[in-house]
Amino acid sequence: MEVSPWLDLRPDPLPALEGERDVDVAVIGAGYAGLSSALALRREGLSVAILEARYAGFGASGRNAGHVTPTIGKDLPSLLRLQGRERTRALLELADAAIAHVERLIHEHAIDCHYDPVGNVVSAVHERQHRSLERAARVAAELGVKGELLDAAALDRRELPRAITLGWLEPHGGVLDPGRYVLGLRRAAREAGALLFEETPVSALVEGPRCELRTPRGRVRAGTVVLATNAWTPRLGRLRSAGMRLQVQLFRTRPLTAEERARVGWSGREGIYTAHEALESYRLTADGRIVGGAKEVRAAFGDRELPDVDPGQAARLEAVFRARFPELRDVAIADHWGGPIFMGLDFLPRVGRGGRHANVLHAVAWAGHGIPMASYAGEMVADLLLGRDGPGAALWSRRGLPTPPEPLRWLAFHAIDGALAWLDRRVDRAARGRQRAPQVPSTGRMV
Ligand SMILES: Cc1cc2nc3c(=O)[nH]c(=O)nc-3n(C[C@H](O)[C@H](O)[C@H](O)COP(=O)(O)OP(=O)(O)OC[C@H]3O[C@@H](n4cnc5c(N)ncnc54)[C@H](O)[C@@H]3O)c2cc1C
Repeated sequence: MEVSPWLDLRPDPLPALEGERDVDVAVIGAGYAGLSSALALRREGLSVAILEARYAGFGASGRNAGHVTPTIGKDLPSLLRLQGRERTRALLELADAAIAHVERLIHEHAIDCHYDPVGNVVSAVHERQHRSLERAARVAAELGVKGELLDAAALDRRELPRAITLGWLEPHGGVLDPGRYVLGLRRAAREAGALLFEETPVSALVEGPRCELRTPRGRVRAGTVVLATNAWTPRLGRLRSAGMRLQVQLFRTRPLTAEERARVGWSGREGIYTAHEALESYRLTADGRIVGGAKEVRAAFGDRELPDVDPGQAARLEAVFRARFPELRDVAIADHWGGPIFMGLDFLPRVGRGGRHANVLHAVAWAGHGIPMASYAGEMVADLLLGRDGPGAALWSRRGLPTPPEPLRWLAFHAIDGALAWLDRRVDRAARGRQRAPQVPSTGRMV
């Protein structure tokens, strides 16, 4: 495993750029955002070159947990409070369009990525989290968002793990294998005629009516540049105030035996993420493992890169997994890995146009929920470039909250992270050793 087990079977990198190229659009980064941009721009008949420092999927796109959710902003009540009703509705439509787009990409390009459209359950693990989950469900109902509040009896009927005491089922979306998905997009972008150069880090972006991108053994001139570099964007000297680079960690178990699978129930295979301030996530894989983690994020001063795996965090994630799934105490953890996300203070993506000649576009800061949104980046970038209105206008017509410079950023991160972790620890202490008691049958409430 180099960066994540999802990429164990990736092909060898394509040759690096040598010499000079001239294209309509140069895309920096070959994750979901870069590859979906290449696909959408080729559809518009533009010539496209993608420059990737390592290989497609090397970033978060090849390392994530694979939950396809309609999450946008921190949570619905705070989104509504900060953005107002009209923009909140527009952002929710955008999030829905993004999931539908993932499903279309998988279908149109025959991407075999084990996509399971089973939805995701936002899960309380203690009564202390019920009030916020119920409030989110009420706001969702007001805004016409589809979902189902799962009380104890409904959780029982779905055989969801007993650590969950109340759930909010998001039926749109599900789970997929992120490595297979990003490699499928890589194939589709190349089949569509995009040039992809791997092992080709961009060291400088020289602006002009036509921009020039410099790489170790070549350069590209392009009328437009798309920054699809997410957590690495500040390293290019761009969008420093758009967000903060945070490190997230995951693990996977060994494959469960049939008897262990039966013990845990979970027959609907829904993705699960908890209602903590810093969520935990759990999902089943096609080969019968559980992939879980998140819960804590790490940040370094000045966007420096941190090791992918922190042993202390790995031990804490394993301890939480044991608490949530006591019936699987004999199931060993097989691997730990991690990757960087990019997060703005308002948890909303940054998509827009900049540069002295207004020809440097960006699509970044997915706040750890980029499978749908970064996959939709291409549609947004194409709309922006061609001057069309589109669902993405909900993002590019707003001014995002600027992230402060260092050392304020680092201090603010630790203050906020410390306060949220304290709240989560209180829930976890109260939930210790407790599980949902089996219920008599009743029905889930549709809203
Ligand atoms: C551990 C983890 C779990 C996650 N779980 C989920 C989840 O369950 N659901 C969900 O929706 N989202 C999840 N995410 C978030 C999601 O993976 C990201 O939002 C998404 O992959 C971002 O895609 P991207 O294309 O913008 O960036 P990335 O995939 O990070 O791609 C950026 C690329 O740019 C390249 N690059 C950087 N600098 C340069 C340069 N100078 N020159 C050339 N190339 C460069 C990098 O090598 C990289 O390949 C998770 C993220 C992590 C890390």
